Amino acid sequence: MDKSQKFETQAVRTQIPGTHAQEHATPMYLTSSFTYQDAEEMRAAFAGENDKNIYSRFSNPNTKEFVDKICLMEQAEAGYAFASGMAAVFSTFAALLSSGDHILSCRSIFGSTHTVFNKILPKWNINTTYVDINDTDSWAEAVTSNTKLLYVETPTNPGVDLVDLEWLGKFAREHSLILVVDNCFATPYLQQPITYGADLVIHSATKFIDGQGRVLGGVTVGKKALIDEIYAFSRSTGPAMSPFNAWVLSKSLETLAVRMDRHCDNALKLAQFLETHPQVNWVKYPTLPSHPHFEIAKKQMKAGGGIVAFGIKGDLETGRKFLNAIEMCSLTANLGDSRTIVTHPSSTTHAKLTEEERQLVGISPELIRVSVGLEHIDDIIKDIEQALNASV
Ligand SMILES: *Cc1c(COP(=O)(O)O)cnc(C)c1O
Repeated sequence: MDKSQKFETQAVRTQIPGTHAQEHATPMYLTSSFTYQDAEEMRAAFAGENDKNIYSRFSNPNTKEFVDKICLMEQAEAGYAFASGMAAVFSTFAALLSSGDHILSCRSIFGSTHTVFNKILPKWNINTTYVDINDTDSWAEAVTSNTKLLYVETPTNPGVDLVDLEWLGKFAREHSLILVVDNCFATPYLQQPITYGADLVIHSATKFIDGQGRVLGGVTVGKKALIDEIYAFSRSTGPAMSPFNAWVLSKSLETLAVRMDRHCDNALKLAQFLETHPQVNWVKYPTLPSHPHFEIAKKQMKAGGGIVAFGIKGDLETGRKFLNAIEMCSLTANLGDSRTIVTHPSSTTHAKLTEEERQLVGISPELIRVSVGLEHIDDIIKDIEQALNASV
């Protein structure tokens, strides 16, 4: 690992040592376990006295390369890679929290993370209080003597709201909380929460890190002392990333910067177009001056990211009509793909919530979320424009 290199160089040049075959690209280490020369080497490996791999649930060369790159990109000390983003989220909480501990979380978070907070952690008497990302003045009142961990997403899903990471880092330190940021929407290319005081950063690598809708993956990086606990938990409970997925994702990181540049260019152009369309009530994109957190975006994000939210003029039925009229873009649950994805959260991903719950997390019947892909922007706009016109 070379910490003096620039982000793009690290993404391309961070590689585990090659083999006698002198291959250029890193090979796949599709092996469940590793062998030893003799009893002494094996004893030392199990005693943690050398850095030899033991078993791919613990570590694997491909996984190491992927984690090393993410650590460099996020300026983190250490990390561990998981089979999915949710494995990273759950294992991080399960490793660090005990019965009676309390979590403070922003209200608008990924759906399955919500389920972990509301239905799974309470089984072990770990409870969560939600706070409003637009009302940070109220957060201090929600901290109790048992509060141990502060969890946020910025930008949020699907509302595309932002929280000031500099403020957040100070808040977490003042209240001695472990600050965990899900940096999935921004990626380390656009924003590095650890530089503002986050203790841990979590990614669903399934999204922009893979960027092509192929494999699932997750990763948690940050302070070594915390990662040691997460590693000890994970090595025995088994949420590890497969070496095949690690190989795919490490390759994906080589192109993260160029892909994100295009995602952001396309998303900004789509957002600007939507602001001019008569069928659109409002548009949320971090680097549009009309975004309520535009100043925060300018301060902490290199660009606005690949997700645009907008309100379509009409009701739930208009949203469904819009989706039905889409021709090129995909109707699918993923995001951060090379292909543009359009979703209508209130009739799909968040349909099980009550109207009141949806309102609390900022999902109105009119909300449309676009994960802007890498097609030519003219074709993206053309499809969305014709679907808007057809939804009237
Ligand atoms: C998708 C997603 C996750 C969960 O990741 P999986 O890889 O699907 O398990 C967590 N957080 C955010 C913000 C996401 O978009």
